[in-house]
Amino acid sequence: MWFRAIALALAWLLAGSGLATAAPAAGPRWEAAPEVQRPTVAEPPGGWTTEVGLHADIHGTWSDRATLVRLANHAATSIPAISKRLGVLPGPTTEVYVVPSEEAFRTLQPGATPDWADGTAWPRWSLIFLKTPSIRDGAATSLQTVLDHELVHVLLGQAFGARPVPRWLQEGMAQFYAGEATWERRIALASNEYGLEPLPLATITTGFPRDEAWAHLAYAQSADFIAWVEGRSGEDGLRTLVRELVAGRSTDDALRAAIGLSVDEADAVWRARLPISQDWYRWVTNGSLWWGTAAGFLALAAWQRKRRAAVKLARWEAEEVARAEAILRRLEQEELQRRWLAIGG
Ligand SMILES: [Zn+2]
Repeated sequence: MWFRAIALALAWLLAGSGLATAAPAAGPRWEAAPEVQRPTVAEPPGGWTTEVGLHADIHGTWSDRATLVRLANHAATSIPAISKRLGVLPGPTTEVYVVPSEEAFRTLQPGATPDWADGTAWPRWSLIFLKTPSIRDGAATSLQTVLDHELVHVLLGQAFGARPVPRWLQEGMAQFYAGEATWERRIALASNEYGLEPLPLATITTGFPRDEAWAHLAYAQSADFIAWVEGRSGEDGLRTLVRELVAGRSTDDALRAAIGLSVDEADAVWRARLPISQDWYRWVTNGSLWWGTAAGFLALAAWQRKRRAAVKLARWEAEEVARAEAILRRLEQEELQRRWLAIGG
């Protein structure tokens, strides 16, 4: 607590001393969202145990204190690092709640959330909810990765202030900077399991489709696009993109500033290198001999799966990391099983 108070006082003094006005500020200016009352988060039985940090306070139950310390240490370096990479300044202290049960996850949040999510962010209030490790799938993404994903949402939300953050930027940046790196497989899976070809950039940047499977694809493609921009113009390009969009420029103008291409020009180059089903099948069948046998099963299974309308991908209205991971794991397990069957046979 003292550390933060001293740091804030120091920052205030520096700001007041004229140092801050000596040169025009580089990067986007952080605009505070209109004053909003943070919703109160009810106390669990036994109260919250809190790890206080400079940029984030981590709350949880006493039995989770080891997790709280781990997350507080992670946030202490992660928030400045992600802010720097995004080219934004950290705003108000982020309050992170590690909730002890599914029920707490459902009831403590300020609004409805999907129960399959492992984490949720409320950028407007700099508020994050995470599930305690004991109620998460053991093979799920690490809690630090989930935290980083949510932190990107909060930091971008703070930079955009009262204006909404474009969804493709939010989800693309979150996956990219949390290091999730699963989007290529997801795009290939969407193509092969559901017969969906990659969406045009102009579709993704004007809002995600309502259909779940298409929304899932738009989510994965957003990350792929961010990675592609980074590959072209580095993190400077990504910072330019954020800065221009924060300043209220159109997607077209922001892209021109970041990579020198319009939305349509970028789309043509970017989408040409995305995997389509035929390429994927070729990769699968060339991979090794047994895949030749497995490909028949795969094609049959894909056809059956398409017919089974009950098979759903994720619900995309809020957070989707956990569900997508689970689906991916299931599909991968099925592939492994088929491979085993093919070798055994
Ligand atoms: Zn997200």
